[in-house]
Amino acid sequence: MQYLPIFAQLKNRPVLLVGAGHVALRKAGTLLKAGARLTVVATYFADEFKEWQQQGKATLIEGRFEAQHIEGHVLVIAATDDDAVNQSVFEAADKRNILVNTVDDQPNCSFIFPAIIDRSPILIAISSAGTAPVLARRLREKLEAILPAHLGPLAQLVGSFRDKVKQKISGFAGRRQFWERVFDSSIVREVQANRLDLAQQQLEDLLEREIPTQGEVYLVGSGPGDPELLTLKALQLMQQADVVVYDYLVSDPIMQLVRRDAELVCVGKKAGAHSVAQEETNNLLVSLALSGKKVCRLKGGDPFIFGRGAEEIEVLLPHGIPFQVVPGITAAAGCAAYAGIALTHRDYAQAVQFVTGHCRKDGVEPDWQSLSRPNQTLVIYMGLMKVEHIQQQLLAAGRSADIPVAVIENGTRPEQRVFTGQLNKLAHLVAQHQVQSPALLIIGEVVALQQKLNWFGDRPDQQAQQPLTNRI
Ligand code: SAH
Repeated sequence: MQYLPIFAQLKNRPVLLVGAGHVALRKAGTLLKAGARLTVVATYFADEFKEWQQQGKATLIEGRFEAQHIEGHVLVIAATDDDAVNQSVFEAADKRNILVNTVDDQPNCSFIFPAIIDRSPILIAISSAGTAPVLARRLREKLEAILPAHLGPLAQLVGSFRDKVKQKISGFAGRRQFWERVFDSSIVREVQANRLDLAQQQLEDLLEREIPTQGEVYLVGSGPGDPELLTLKALQLMQQADVVVYDYLVSDPIMQLVRRDAELVCVGKKAGAHSVAQEETNNLLVSLALSGKKVCRLKGGDPFIFGRGAEEIEVLLPHGIPFQVVPGITAAAGCAAYAGIALTHRDYAQAVQFVTGHCRKDGVEPDWQSLSRPNQTLVIYMGLMKVEHIQQQLLAAGRSADIPVAVIENGTRPEQRVFTGQLNKLAHLVAQHQVQSPALLIIGEVVALQQKLNWFGDRPDQQAQQPLTNRI
């Protein structure tokens, strides 16, 4: 983090602005909006500044900047069109440890102004730390477009109830749950429709009612790794949870989207290494929910596909703990799409099977005959450790040696690697490239199209013609 984003309370605090041209005018407007007590030093003043002086909002000092002007100010902004003057303002302020911004001159700044989205009292500040101001501005435009205008009045209404809610509900968790219910209720729609009295009445009613502190479990699939493949529902529940119980498959960028102050519990480590026993995880979910917590059980891919999701839900039933299940994009769908493999295709495969490479505890082998049928795609999860066995058995059951195969490591993530070859070289492919978990094996005629359909990441043959995707 190159800069610390903070929101400064400038009401009635002295701020010095050096310069009174166009740029200074914009800065002055923003500072006055924030209630700053403004002093402006310049050799010439536009009419707006003179008006502000008459209204008692700004003090104007006509003349050249001198270091002594800095004294007693909490912030200083250098906005003249003379680099030497700006430089001396910066040095004078910096020497006194007063935060200073020199417009359009990042090296001479000890703070920078972010792009702002103003839905007061809600404020969103965006910065690219000076590296890409146009990108920051475009992000701001995007956010401006999606953030509803009623956000301001809603925050105001809520703010006017804070003390009342504090008196009525003593615990922090209880208050948080209350506010979650408010934001899920029709109160939001009333504010949106500008029916503020009705919204206020409903808020009073809600506060009068009993606040249940019943816990709940959200079993949420987070997809194969790309955070943009999360569903909206997954994101909402990740933001609402008091506790997030996650395993190693959940990617770091996805964990970044979890509510900042949620408690995080990791219950899975990499394959082969120690991981928390399933029974322990089950018990943890039960005890957290019984203590009134909203628990998000976050899993890689889809929770009901090789995810033991059903087992975790079953243990909740005897306790009457409410739950929701949010499907996620399973690794087969995600990795295939990002590797350019269509799992079915009218000309190549009329069926697709998802299987796990982990043998059952009782040692019973899968039905290799059925897995080896032609014109179907076989997707093998957790297949790395048994890859040699898998190759042998499929060949022995009659699958052709030259059937195309793909190995996808870290599918959908920036570090995705895809290797293709033939079934009789599958184990060799894995060993040769030292493929690591998580990785998926795909076997079938459809893999032949991969060269054509591959789109994610660099394609040496097509770099010059890459389309502009993900436009911001
Ligand atoms: N519930 C998950 C699967 C859990 S089993 C789902 O629906 O996707 C774990 C296996 O999934 C891994 O061993 C690997 O085979 C596969 N997998 C999960 N994420 C993957 C990824 N990003 N890339 C490749 N394989 C992945």
